[in-house]
Amino acid sequence: MAGRLGLVGFRVGHLRSPAPLGPGLASSWSAYGHLLRPNETSRIPIRSNYKQVNPGDPSMAWKDMTDRGAERMFFVEICRGLGLTLAHLFKEPATINYPFEKGPLSPRFRGEHALRRYPSGEERCIACKLCEAICPAQAITIEAEERTDGSRRTTRYDIDMTKCIYCGFCQEACPVDAIVEGPNFEFSTETHEELMYNKEKLLNNGDKWEAEIAANLQADYLYR
Ligand code: SF4
Ligand code: SF4
Repeated sequence: MAGRLGLVGFRVGHLRSPAPLGPGLASSWSAYGHLLRPNETSRIPIRSNYKQVNPGDPSMAWKDMTDRGAERMFFVEICRGLGLTLAHLFKEPATINYPFEKGPLSPRFRGEHALRRYPSGEERCIACKLCEAICPAQAITIEAEERTDGSRRTTRYDIDMTKCIYCGFCQEACPVDAIVEGPNFEFSTETHEELMYNKEKLLNNGDKWEAEIAANLQADYLYR
């Protein structure tokens, strides 16, 4: 019964303000040792290491009171904030007006894929299939056959751009710099089918971006 009363007392007291405990109640609450130590008389622990984080009551010294009054009367805080805003008007903005402005791109940027040609117009790709073999996403599909002149060329070169993880392995594996990842990153589409690139699309990309791709390869050739 005493234990039951103690439990009730503990629960009620826990919700109310802290109260001193009698020895009977304290012993019956010993089962709640993790909440109450034997020598404690209050259920709220008293800690001496609390740190005061607010400044407390404002100083009532005459100088401090006049300073606070003047700051409020002349809107010092508001003027400081407006001054900060005004100062930023004359600084160079941290943002750019995309899509009319674009940020710089590294020569190593890996964007949309392209198949390149030689200046004569001949395709670079020799259908060695190294890019297809190395692609970790198995996004490339190549079919090839021998031409009448004995050269080996692709008859099909597809990339599923929705599988591609833009790792650049295909570009690194290609012995003739035929497949590359160009600087274009604006090729989002509305349908899945539009991201299934075929050879014609890739060759068109190469023709369109050849100047930029050649400049990027030239800028990075010492590190490849
Ligand atoms: S960038 Fe990587 S994942 Fe994409 S086609 Fe090339 S090898 Fe495959
Ligand atoms: S793109 Fe390069 S690696 Fe891929 S099949 Fe053609 S020549 Fe070989």
